[in-house]
Amino acid sequence: MQATKALSNNLSAIAQSDAVLLSASEHKIDSADIDDSAIQVVETLATAGYEVFLVGGCVRDLLLKRQPKDFDVATNATPEQINQLFRRSRIIGRRFRIVHVRFKREIIEVSTFRRAVDKEDISLAHSRKDLSGKVSAQSSKGVMLRDNAYGSLNEDVFRRDFTVNALYYDPLSGTLIDHVKGMQDLDAGVLRIIGNAEQRYREDPGRMLRAVRFSAKLGFELDNDSSQAIHHTAELIGEVSPARLFDELSKMFLSGNAEKIWELLVHYNLASLLFPSVSDDHSMIIESMRSTDTRISAEKPVTPGFIYGVLLWSALQRRTQSHSANMSVPQARETAAAEVIAEQQPNISIPKRFTQFIRDVWRLQPKLEKRQSRQIERTLGDRRFRAAYDFLLMRCSAGELPSELADWWTRIQEVDSDERAQMIRDQQTRGNKNPKRKKKKPSRPQP
Ligand code: ATP
Ligand code: MG
Repeated sequence: MQATKALSNNLSAIAQSDAVLLSASEHKIDSADIDDSAIQVVETLATAGYEVFLVGGCVRDLLLKRQPKDFDVATNATPEQINQLFRRSRIIGRRFRIVHVRFKREIIEVSTFRRAVDKEDISLAHSRKDLSGKVSAQSSKGVMLRDNAYGSLNEDVFRRDFTVNALYYDPLSGTLIDHVKGMQDLDAGVLRIIGNAEQRYREDPGRMLRAVRFSAKLGFELDNDSSQAIHHTAELIGEVSPARLFDELSKMFLSGNAEKIWELLVHYNLASLLFPSVSDDHSMIIESMRSTDTRISAEKPVTPGFIYGVLLWSALQRRTQSHSANMSVPQARETAAAEVIAEQQPNISIPKRFTQFIRDVWRLQPKLEKRQSRQIERTLGDRRFRAAYDFLLMRCSAGELPSELADWWTRIQEVDSDERAQMIRDQQTRGNKNPKRKKKKPSRPQP
């Protein structure tokens, strides 16, 4: 009964359009793979008489037989109307208002169909001062600041980013709707931006990062236009807000495909625009991306703090070097760490809990390098020891330090207490034999 009603709502949505409709027997979506909460949201909206579909990454992933990360719902109900239908829901977002419907274990995102911004909206909102109350707006460089102009499904399709992300699925009737030859691209493994690529990246430069992320995640090739345009618009990446950049990049680095993602960021010159302080030698970065991917596939914990610590490491070393002409080495390290992090914040804003983590990991590096017998136990007991040790492993694998050092720290964690004590005594002897270690200020300090 409900399904029939939903289908009739939805059929009116696609009438008079040139969309391709595929019935349940003509595509590979298995309804058993769809989350119950998402179905419940669709049923509630359909029963209330709205047009409603699953859309975006979940439809793409269901077709590819991958586990969807989340389920996005699109409807012609406004955020207020959606909000009224679900007790545990709330409207969020400013740049893009959507409704979060909360269930026990998850949140379903429901968005209202949008239309693309038209010329009138753009000229109305060209000045940043004039944005309040406007449904959609762009900055002086044509970057979209808001996108809240509601529309129909036929319009909604064309403001989505890639063809494979613009497939709509009605789980109640099993109908799949394709306006943009998305199925063809999905079968061919092609990531194609909808519309004029350069214009679409200009209105939201964050789409360049999405292109990189999906290409790496799905193993899809960007089509020629979608790829070439990035070379023309890469500079606009600085228009994306520092908070969104942190979110997008963290999602990318922790996606399990970080190594591939870094390669693509370098290829499109986005890496040097995002991280201008990175030196030409990327070995440690590549090493850490690879190890993050391995940890994710082994379901070990990962934090974006670690990767940012690696990305800013070469800048920290250079800065420490230049400060140590005028101050003590520990002071130079502290000052350099504070400056390097502060300088990154206006581009990519790293939340405090991560910057603290980065500084702790950096602070422990000299202790791990020196292995001073008196400090070894304390270093091993530091709450950041594990992360600092992993960081040291990265430095050793990248050839920055002898691998013997990594082996020593690996071993001291594995041996029993007697042997540990012996290892510490050996260091003491080594320290005594090496008078240079006692000097407070070495002449050429290493960070
Ligand atoms: P993921 O697997 O990461 O969830 P996704 O494709 O679902 O991938 P979301 O960020 O959840 O990505 O967005 C859901 C959908 O909203 C996308 O598939 C796309 O259709 C649309 N979308 C999201 N961000 C943009 C954007 N910046 N520009 C255009 N469309 C977008
Ligand atoms: Mg999604």
